Amino acid sequence: MRRKFVAGNWKMNTDTAKARDLASQVVAGLAANPAWADKVQVAVCPPFPYLAVAAEAIKGSKVGLGAQNCHHEASGAFTGEVSPAMLKDSGCHYVILGHSERRHKMGETDAQINHKTKAALQHGLTVILCVGETLAERQEQRTLAVLKEQFHHGCHGLSREQMSNVVLAYEPVWAIGTGHNATPEQAQEAHAFLRGRASEEFGPEVASKLQILYGGSLVPDNAPQLLAQPDVDGGLIGGASLDAGRFLKIIEAGAR
Ligand code: PEP
Repeated sequence: MRRKFVAGNWKMNTDTAKARDLASQVVAGLAANPAWADKVQVAVCPPFPYLAVAAEAIKGSKVGLGAQNCHHEASGAFTGEVSPAMLKDSGCHYVILGHSERRHKMGETDAQINHKTKAALQHGLTVILCVGETLAERQEQRTLAVLKEQFHHGCHGLSREQMSNVVLAYEPVWAIGTGHNATPEQAQEAHAFLRGRASEEFGPEVASKLQILYGGSLVPDNAPQLLAQPDVDGGLIGGASLDAGRFLKIIEAGAR
């Protein structure tokens, strides 16, 4: 039985005070509802400068800490970059890689994402690996082909053991930050397809344990239907994760 997982991607938002408050409110909400925390794994992913503040706020709680990106090298002359080792040292358990904003706004390739994934896993991080099609790709009926490619290249060369520290996030680009979420049927189709690819490439045991999150305008109103799909194991939440009350409502939906 896969556990549900709800992670908040704060993107380039918050400041020191807001990061502290937001993380503390999530901790308090979970502490007040222990049954949610039993059923749902929870993480917050602040911007790099606020990792330490959030780490302090979640100390001793069931909330995990994640970063939104990393470089593939361990250290060295890479001005402006942050290594997986630094993320571990900052208290991170997770790192989001291959987010569509990095693929499409920063030009990250599948090969770079694969490099980062391997480095993050080697340093003991759990990778939340994002995949998803653009609107044009969906309209051209290429959704499943794109997912197949992104999954194949993103996880290329990983062992079955390493796959136990990979969480997939299906995030259709057209749904991210737009208010147009995938329907539960669209999400289920994509998730079932990705699980099938995982089975094909890594075997049925890896596939059955693989958590696949949905991301893209997931909000309290649509969370119950989306999270009830058999292959939807939780959510990667952008906008709604910046409000602790809305984020907690999504966690509550995941706990049902
Ligand atoms: C995201 O950034 O991963 C995301 C899903 O954003 P939103 O929930 O705002 O669509």
